[in-house]
Amino acid sequence: MDILEIDLEWQINRFKQLIQITESLHSFLDVETLLGELCVKLKEFYPDFSFSLLLSQDTYSHNDLPIIDLEYDSENIAAIKAYVSGELQFEYITSAINHTIIYAPLKGKQVTCGVLQIITTPATEFPEYELEFLQLLASAAGSSLENAHLYQQSKQEISNLQLINETSHCLNSNLRLVDTMTYMSEQIISSIHAQEVGFFLFTNEHAEVKILPGSTPYFYTQQAQIYIDYLSGKIELEKNPLFIGDCNLNNIKNPRFHSILAIPMIHSEKLKGFSIVMHQKPYFFSFDTFKLLQSLIHHSSLALTNSMLREELEHMIITDHLTKLHSRKFLDEKIQRSMKESEEGTFILLDIDNFKELNDTYGHQVGDKVLVQVANLIKRNIRGEDIGARWGGEELALYLPGVPLDKGAAVAERIVKKISESSDPHVTVSCGVSYWNKQRLDAYNFLFKRADEALYIAKETGKNKVVIQEQKIRVG
Ligand code: GH3
Ligand code: MG
Ligand code: MG
Repeated sequence: MDILEIDLEWQINRFKQLIQITESLHSFLDVETLLGELCVKLKEFYPDFSFSLLLSQDTYSHNDLPIIDLEYDSENIAAIKAYVSGELQFEYITSAINHTIIYAPLKGKQVTCGVLQIITTPATEFPEYELEFLQLLASAAGSSLENAHLYQQSKQEISNLQLINETSHCLNSNLRLVDTMTYMSEQIISSIHAQEVGFFLFTNEHAEVKILPGSTPYFYTQQAQIYIDYLSGKIELEKNPLFIGDCNLNNIKNPRFHSILAIPMIHSEKLKGFSIVMHQKPYFFSFDTFKLLQSLIHHSSLALTNSMLREELEHMIITDHLTKLHSRKFLDEKIQRSMKESEEGTFILLDIDNFKELNDTYGHQVGDKVLVQVANLIKRNIRGEDIGARWGGEELALYLPGVPLDKGAAVAERIVKKISESSDPHVTVSCGVSYWNKQRLDAYNFLFKRADEALYIAKETGKNKVVIQEQKIRVG
């Protein structure tokens, strides 16, 4: 065989390989696998040379692949020239070992995805057809890469739209605020891989920032306050979403979380609150993620505001506006439910002694203040599951579900003592205590009547005391 024949055979072989690799690369829809396959093939074609892929849009993590970010302001002039012109470029380096660097643009149909860099050591001159092969190979890789990018992008867009759709649907299905927010938070964590998600509401003419349910526990800690303060200040001032790639560069020194997204919640052109999403790694969130989060928050603002307004209204109905204790209606319902679900419970009726006199001496306003003082003292002396209510006027009531009589009576004694010790101007209270349990047939109105009777006895026998009424009252 003469040289010409060898060349011809070589060329035919090369083009067969080209057809094969083009088919193979086009079949990959996943960028990561495609790049892996490309590197394997390059190693096969050019076992003696080293190569790298300089990619312009590299948003993926490649563990062992020779991939470098192609920066637009890169000092690698030949690489940029190949990228911009779409033509092969050469660089001849004369040093101890001469070498040639070839840059082949990875040209897709619409955009160039990057540049394939091949370093030949020692400097090797490529014949014309080999350069043509290289150019075609790089183009095949470029258009496959472009396809895979587009495919992944459209898949991402679809899943983003699904996420927005599902979230809006859930938000409009009239869930409780806590369920809605927990759902939102879970969606954000799973879709954008956030480590912390928080929702905040501006209250009292923006003087306070209230953490909404659904926020991750970190936001309730002291360490989180620095982020909340900084971001709420900025959002309030600028009313724009914030994209922070590395928090170290901002006002927070040595931050635990470097990547931060903060999105204002705006409804009827009013700033209602904001959401914070954080990750420890700097530049963790992409700009696409930022846009997705904005859409999510934007779509949910109306439903959130509605949900909050509804619960505020409910709260107003179940809360007494002066003392901020529960309403009598609320207490009634809770006792009736507890009588079905619990084993026992203690009921305390509490009345301020000589309150009329106090009003007459100091005025009604001071009387109101004392009422609030007494209510606050009660709130401070009961557990979360106990219910303090305003029974009416200066009469208050307390229901302790699942609490036996001796413990309930002790709570009443403690409250009577505390009020006498700490009220200003000084007042005392009297308590009537009643109790129920599953063993004895009892009814809700008997429980109340017994407490009322005990209270009457307390008033008759000197006030500032607790009286227990344990007997069943026979009515009729
Ligand atoms: P006793 O020790 O027997 O309970 O005497 P009392 O003066 O507290 O009892 P009485 O029922 O005669 O008077 C209750 C007073 O409480 C009358 C009313 O003006 C006052 N009162 C009821 N509700 C309020 C309120 O919301 N604010 C104020 N400041 N006073 C109230
Ligand atoms: Mg009274
Ligand atoms: Mg009274």
